[in-house]
This record gives sequence, C-alpha cells and structure tokens, in this order.
Amino acid sequence: MSYDREKQVAIEATLSAAKLCEKVRQDIPPAMEKGDKSPVTVADLGSQAIICKAISEVFSHDPIVGEEDATELRKPEMAENLAKVTEYVKGEIADATSEQVTTWIDRGNGQVGQRFWTLDPIDGTKGFLRQDQYAIALALIEDGEVKVGVMACPAYPVPNHKPGMLFMAVRGEGAIMMPFATAEQTPIHVVKADDTANMRFVESVESAHGDQDRQNAIAQAVGIKADSVRMDSQAKYGAVASGKAALYLRLPSPKSPDYRENIWDHAAGAIVVEEAGGRVTDMYGKPLDFASKPKMMENQGVVVSNGIIHDTVLAALK
Ligand code: AMP
Ligand code: MG
Repeated sequence: MSYDREKQVAIEATLSAAKLCEKVRQDIPPAMEKGDKSPVTVADLGSQAIICKAISEVFSHDPIVGEEDATELRKPEMAENLAKVTEYVKGEIADATSEQVTTWIDRGNGQVGQRFWTLDPIDGTKGFLRQDQYAIALALIEDGEVKVGVMACPAYPVPNHKPGMLFMAVRGEGAIMMPFATAEQTPIHVVKADDTANMRFVESVESAHGDQDRQNAIAQAVGIKADSVRMDSQAKYGAVASGKAALYLRLPSPKSPDYRENIWDHAAGAIVVEEAGGRVTDMYGKPLDFASKPKMMENQGVVVSNGIIHDTVLAALK
C-alpha cells in the first residue's frame, strides 16, 4: 500500500497552514498585553480550517481528530474573530467564506477509528507567542499505527536560509527534512553512539509541562553532560530525528502527576523519530497508544531517543 497521495496532501496542507500562522505572527503587536490569547486563537482556527479542508477534499471518508472546534467561533459575540480568521484563511484559499471556515474547522471533530488523521494546528502555542518554536503537526493513523507524519516548524533554524523546516515520515520509507526555503528533501537519521558532540537532550521550555529536575538527573545518569536544550512543541522530535539531540524527556510534572498526553501532541513526531532510526515509548517502556482515544490513557511520560540509549534511560527511570 502506498501513502504517496496522503504524504503529498499532508505536506501541502501543513505548509499552507504554516504560511497563515506566520502571517498572524508577523501581525502580533509587539506590545500585546500579556495573556492575550487572541492571535493564537486566530492562527489555531485558521490552520485547522485549511488542513481539514485539504484532507476532506481528497479523503472524504477519513475522520480528523483535531485539537480545535468552531463551537465558540459560531457564537454571535465572536463575529469579529470569525471575520479575522476568515480573512487570514482567504490569504490561502481566496474564495473562502465564514460559513465554510466554521464547517472546515468542525471537520476536526472526528472520532478515532480504524483509519483517521490527528491534527494539532498549532503545537506549542506558548512558543508561537514568544516568537520561539511551534509546529503544525498532522498524522495518519491506520490499524493502530502511525503511517504518515508531517510537522511543519516555521521557526526552525535552517543554516544559510530563512527559518522553516518540515519533517516528514512514511512507515517503512524513512524520514526526511525539507527546508521551506529550498523544498529540498534530505533523509535524516538519529545520533550515532560515537557522535559525542550531539549527545544532548531536549525538553520543554515550559517547566509545567514536565519534571525538569528529574529529566536532568536522568540525562546525567545516562552520561549526557551538557545542559538541556529547551524547545517548544514537537520540534523536539525533529531535533532528535535529525541528530541534533540524542534524547527528549517528558516526565509528568509533580504539579500534574495524572496528566495524560494528547495523541496530536506526539503522533507526527513519533513516526518521524522512529523512521529516522530512533525509539519512542512512555516512561515505563510501553508503546504510545495512538489508536484508542484522543488522550493516551494507558501511557505516562514520553521518552524519545536515538534508540541506542533507550534501554539505559528506561532502566535509570526505574
Ligand atoms: P511543549 O511545547 O513540548 O511544552 O508542549 C506543548 C503541549 O503541552 C501542549 O500542546 C499541551 O497539550 C501540553 N500540556 C499542557 N499541560 C501539560 C502538562 N501538565 N504536562 C504535559 N504536557 C502538557
Ligand atoms: Mg499541542
């Protein structure tokens, strides 16, 4: 079975959504009041609209499990916001109407099943607002397994070019990265054992999204001496997949020990790392369950590695 069409549609859709997000971000007033989430809302909803439209046009029977929905946006008092979202969507789809925009967004209300897509229209919203990393993450799940994953990371650094990197993988076909600026696809691989310069580890910028003390202790225990590289969003999976780091640790925060991860926060990143030769499990070594529910109820914590050090990390966690 070939996933060429799925891959193509997913790449085009996430790149188009990335353009919308960057436009919104350029328009964010520098003096924006702290805590004003409206730019995120506009970009999140616009990104979801564009991607859901693209997927459902080609794969009309595929459910999409997206992070957002249009319930709030349809309320009369949100008319101004809906007009804003529509205006940005028109930058990518010239004849889009507000009615269509809400319909497209709500295509993301699908259920998990034998075959479905999962979408985070903006992963790392705090990074988006801080002008740091964020990702538009889209994955196809079939028979309990991620088959295609695409992450568009508009702020990801590219040597000698403007930022913007797309990471992509198809099960069994390897992983690639593609700078937005050149559209050149290069195969990517995780860090090898003797590459000490890249034996770094990545973790969230947001301390509330993990347990940084324990993450640092575990990294040291497995011989990683350098300080962590802190990065928002699934861009962290891109760093591990492309050999810029050997490990990504996401251990439950002591403040939210019962937190369960969302499938759209990990599915695209996980296949990219696995296809680059790495390994992804929860903190107990269990595979991540992308197939049962939007939240991974049977998993806790996430460990992403170059594979070689994975068992050592799991042992240290015990
Ligand atoms: P990151 O940019 O890696 O810090 O991850 C951003 C994601 O963290 C968001 O998409 C949220 O779904 C997720 N998140 C929110 N609260 C928590 C929490 N208490 N623990 C772990 N992840 C969280
Ligand atoms: Mg997210």
